[in-house]
Amino acid sequence: MDLDRVIRKVPDFPKPGILFYDISSIFTDPEAYTFAVDKMIQAYEGEQIDGVIAIESRGFLLGSVYSLAKKVPLVLARKKGKLPGKTIEESYALEYGEATLEIHIEDLTPNKRWLIIDDLIATGGTLEAVAKMIERQGSEVAGIFSIIGLPFLNYAEKVGKYNPKTLIDYHGE
Ligand code: AMP
Repeated sequence: MDLDRVIRKVPDFPKPGILFYDISSIFTDPEAYTFAVDKMIQAYEGEQIDGVIAIESRGFLLGSVYSLAKKVPLVLARKKGKLPGKTIEESYALEYGEATLEIHIEDLTPNKRWLIIDDLIATGGTLEAVAKMIERQGSEVAGIFSIIGLPFLNYAEKVGKYNPKTLIDYHGE
């Protein structure tokens, strides 16, 4: 399966100079979607994963599949203001702009090993923000997974210690 062929690339979105890698074109191709989630699940075979934390919004469509396949809890990391209960939050810089993510505190059970899932790792700031919340709550990051990696944006500096795994990397824009 050639994921590169399936991933939609949109230049100058959401602002000039950014090449946007859109994985929603994987979701419209059931063969590619199945391939991607199978690879994701295989990547953690034999590892102790107690739960998965999926990042809004494309991460939800990967994390939910992992959760159902492996029968582990799914916890949502959402953009600020969306979750109704008591939350913890973390702000971070994006490749473009700044953002804050929140997680329901009662969902983030301590002393567990969490796999964090998103669609793409650019600078690593988003995944690092979730990793910080996990650690602040007395839990452990078991790993981080994204379909796409942009290693030229140096995500290894922020999240290299969490053993990031990706299915396809792009090395420049
Ligand atoms: P970062 O925190 O810099 O690793 O950025 C990762 C987050 O921003 C992910 O949730 C992506 O959905 C989004 N993102 C950043 N850069 C891109 C890009 N070039 N194409 C698609 N999504 C991106």
